[in-house]
Amino acid sequence: NVRVRFCPSPTGNPHVGLVRTALFNWAFARHHGGTLVFRIEDTDAARDSEESYQQLLDSMRWLGFDWDEGPEVGGPHAPYRQSQRMDIYKDVAQQLLDGGYAYRCYCTAEELDERREAARAAGRPSGYDGKCRVVTPEQQAAYEAEGRPSIVRFRMPDEAITFTDLVRGELTFTPENVPDYGIVRANGAPLYTLVNPVDDALMEITHVLRGEDLLSSTPRQIALYKALIELGVAKTVPEFGHLPYVMGEGNKKLSKRDPQASLNLYRERGFLPAGLLNYLSLLGWSLSADQDLFSMEEMVAAFDIKDVNANPARFDLKKAEAINADHIRQLDVKAFAEACEPWLRAPHAPWAPEAFDQAAWEAIAPHAQTRLTVLSDITANVDFLFLEEPAEDEASWAKAMKEGSDALLRTARAKLADAEWTADAIKAAVVAAGEEHGLKLGKAQAPVRVAVTGRTVGLPLFESLEVLGRERTLARVDAALA
Ligand code: GLU
Repeated sequence: NVRVRFCPSPTGNPHVGLVRTALFNWAFARHHGGTLVFRIEDTDAARDSEESYQQLLDSMRWLGFDWDEGPEVGGPHAPYRQSQRMDIYKDVAQQLLDGGYAYRCYCTAEELDERREAARAAGRPSGYDGKCRVVTPEQQAAYEAEGRPSIVRFRMPDEAITFTDLVRGELTFTPENVPDYGIVRANGAPLYTLVNPVDDALMEITHVLRGEDLLSSTPRQIALYKALIELGVAKTVPEFGHLPYVMGEGNKKLSKRDPQASLNLYRERGFLPAGLLNYLSLLGWSLSADQDLFSMEEMVAAFDIKDVNANPARFDLKKAEAINADHIRQLDVKAFAEACEPWLRAPHAPWAPEAFDQAAWEAIAPHAQTRLTVLSDITANVDFLFLEEPAEDEASWAKAMKEGSDALLRTARAKLADAEWTADAIKAAVVAAGEEHGLKLGKAQAPVRVAVTGRTVGLPLFESLEVLGRERTLARVDAALA
């Protein structure tokens, strides 16, 4: 039975790297008919916040993820917030101390710095040197009497650790590269290094899929697992798979603070969850060499962690947008119209709520659907329908209104006044007006478009005018001529 976990720390806005990790765990769980555990790693009171926690849940719901155990759904290993599990970690830390798997380390920060410098200068490994591995009871009593603070440090085995990463194959870490490490702070607060594998053990996680940035903690966790097995706290060591780095601009690792990394940005711009997830899945995985566009059902059906590529993936905003545009096109028109609604209403919409006209929207929606990259673009594309006067865009105006534009507009106005009010007839009127002035359609329609919509680019013009109606179209041409 496959059991995987998604276990972010609520320390700020969710970012795309975190979403990719969630996605791969979710797809893996669903593919294998397994269990997805959602755990909140909120042991760092200084950095975690309730607001980030709520945002995290909200984001996961928006993306359409479901989980089998965790916040809001509960489960046999509750609670799923680490801040509510502190007694468990204290107890395990004590068992590790009692069993000799960990020890109290009294080295001060200055002492550690000094020895690290000396080791560096001598060309020796500069990690913890194991000084407190052997402290006599007398020495310990003296330290305690002195009031020296101590951390709990895990004792790494002296042999190399080898494991087969599900993505990267066999990996070996030698002892000099993995020194003894802290698991409980001097103030008694347990660290990620302890709480994460302890919970993975207690929650019987079978596969740990996470970012490559955590690869260096894996040999430590495997060693800790072995101790937990001997203590009877864990049953087995899970398998590990490390997902490739995501590179951003300038081939640097995409950082949490990178504006492009913020999930909210994609949500606010009107990415569809399906489009965003489709794109993020391509950061390390693909359905097939010639198919970039797919649904989450297709991903779940095909997902195999062994197909994940170990090479860094490049985050490409243009590609993300193109894939999102394809997902927008695939919606049925009713779903599309509904998906746009948030942008057609306050506070996103620049028109008064009562100016919104549902019938006009439904008439124009099919034309908008084929042109949008992100849903938020809908506002500027249809504002000519709902604003009293067209948006004023000086650059468009300067570009389209040249010498002779007035004459063209006058002719077009006369023909439009008599035309039957259908897109085809409107087009014929503009073509005919252009011919009278020796202008091809492209040149002839530009002033009409700017007069009526305020912009040089937009939805198909003749359909737009049909929806806007004759009266308002003529009034706008008149206003442009005035
Ligand atoms: N809370 C850790 C993080 O957000 C989880 C790391 C892991 O998956 O082990 O980085």
